[in-house]
Amino acid sequence: MGFDYERFFAEALGGLRREGRYRVFADLERLAGRFPLALYRPPAGPPREVVVWCSNDYLGMGSHPAVLEAMRDAVAAQGAGAGGTRNISGTNHLHVELERELAALHGKEAALVFSSGYVANDTTLATLASRLPGCQVFSDALNHASMIAGMRNSRAACRVFRHNDVAHLRALLAEADPAAPKIIAFESVYSMDGDIGPIAEIRDAARQFGALTYLDEVHAVGLYGANGAGVAERDGVMDRLDVIQGTLAKGFGVVGGYVAASAALVDFVRSNASGFIFSTAMPPAIAAGALASVRHVRAHPELRTRHQERAATLKRRLLAAGLPLMASQTHIVPVFVGDAALCKQASDLLLERHGIYIQPINYPTVPRGGERLRITPSPVHDDGLMDALVVALQDVWQELGLARSQAA
Ligand SMILES: *Cc1c(COP(=O)(O)O)cnc(C)c1O
Repeated sequence: MGFDYERFFAEALGGLRREGRYRVFADLERLAGRFPLALYRPPAGPPREVVVWCSNDYLGMGSHPAVLEAMRDAVAAQGAGAGGTRNISGTNHLHVELERELAALHGKEAALVFSSGYVANDTTLATLASRLPGCQVFSDALNHASMIAGMRNSRAACRVFRHNDVAHLRALLAEADPAAPKIIAFESVYSMDGDIGPIAEIRDAARQFGALTYLDEVHAVGLYGANGAGVAERDGVMDRLDVIQGTLAKGFGVVGGYVAASAALVDFVRSNASGFIFSTAMPPAIAAGALASVRHVRAHPELRTRHQERAATLKRRLLAAGLPLMASQTHIVPVFVGDAALCKQASDLLLERHGIYIQPINYPTVPRGGERLRITPSPVHDDGLMDALVVALQDVWQELGLARSQAA
């Protein structure tokens, strides 16, 4: 009697399997100091080493000795957990230092750290858009799920502008009440296509219509700009943006998220954001690792130079090999497949036959028909690894009869 829950779940999962987009997580063990190598445990048979080509640990900071040492020292000195929310005995001196470092990195008065970049987006946008009276939010069509969650949770009116289309954004802004508070939420690097948002133009529109700008630099922090503060730093527009949001998990290789903004805005979020107030603070050792990483990455622009060189070299080599490289202005190297089941098969074949791990990117992460392999070369993916990757991709494209161009 009643609703058959188990059957419902099983049937829903069956649907994903039939579409070829049921997600299987590769069981990997990272090998500190040997990135991008990892130990893969297949469903059957012995574990073996594979090369990871799809990590968001873009610079390999997740196994940098300075980061590991800072984390080990902090665990030895201060133990495992933070012991409470920031308000209830959880604020550790390392959080204070990390927030100071992040504010300085972005040239802002203050910063606030959250347990993840997702939480930073969700709770900051929810707080700002719900508490600013009559706030309207303007959101790029390709914004990340965490920003969409924050806007929905705010229950504020939200208008979606076409991806990177500033004329459309302006048209929507012009329709809004001139006196009402407004937030424009967008990203610098869009992580699936590797394109970049028109930051300066959006900032100009925001100024004209009296809107706050909220920029997600998750896929750019550590990677762009003289200090690694992101694309806004590279383009010289950092000081004109109201809120810069970032992660400590990708370019910085650890975990955690943050926003940097004016002292008053940050204090307002600190004082009102549910996902900040009611959640246990980041462990001190995580803060120590993140702090060491931010300091290191800031001081080593040659990491960024090498990172860009590796991405450019791989793009050139994929084109030379006749593989369907998708247009990308950044370090992200997407290769077009265009079918969920084939994308999964290509990924499986790379892993089983070539010891290369690149997870399939399927719907809903990208639109149906836009399925792809998303490759992220780091400074430590050397020429030898790249040779092997190109050979492996050629073999897989041959074996599965995959399209050589994106139009096919
Ligand atoms: C990964 C990601 C986030 C979330 O950051 P986490 O620190 O992984 O939670 C936010 N925005 C974008 C664009 C992302 O890709």
